[in-house]
Amino acid sequence: MSTFAPPVQRLVTELSKLPGIGNRTAQRLAFFLLRSSDEDALALADAIREVKERIGLCEVCFNLADEPRCRICQDERRDHGLICVVEEPSDVIPIERTHEYRGVYHVLGGALSPIDGVDPEDLRIAELYGRVGGAAGGGGDGSVREVVLATNPTTTGEATALHIAAGLHERVPGVTVSRLASGLPVGADLEYADEVTLGKALSGRRTI
Ligand SMILES: [Zn+2]
Repeated sequence: MSTFAPPVQRLVTELSKLPGIGNRTAQRLAFFLLRSSDEDALALADAIREVKERIGLCEVCFNLADEPRCRICQDERRDHGLICVVEEPSDVIPIERTHEYRGVYHVLGGALSPIDGVDPEDLRIAELYGRVGGAAGGGGDGSVREVVLATNPTTTGEATALHIAAGLHERVPGVTVSRLASGLPVGADLEYADEVTLGKALSGRRTI
């Protein structure tokens, strides 16, 4: 039984769905919003509405974008012959922060996990092969030289990297496939790696 009025309970319930927000924190945030000015509270509601309406996925790399192509794919100064493969759009941010990487990205939308029912066709792996494949593979223009597999250093991330490496070797033997150097905390997500460690892992990447 809730002790809150239904609208307040609804807000608490919605807030508690956010990652890392338990029921107690959700209540605190709800009361904070109730005390806030109408302007501040509604600015938050508007910001949420705007991202949901305006942000989609880049048609090339599946990173977040407010246009058909994301800013990175549109940038002519980036090296389009170098593709860094990551699991989620949030993984692009720590790699950009290192300032070590001048290539483009490919966001898979997760990692392979047969136990959770995530199979290769659930990720954007075929799209990656298309980008890298050139004339023979269809889709790509054959200008990709290297694919850096920057999936998380977790069991599922490693399995995903191995699966994609095998697929690329088979389809495009001329393209270099590399993996981030060790040194990243095993089992952790890329998101939480510090810039220096991640920068070293990038520059010390090894061919697989
Ligand atoms: Zn893009």
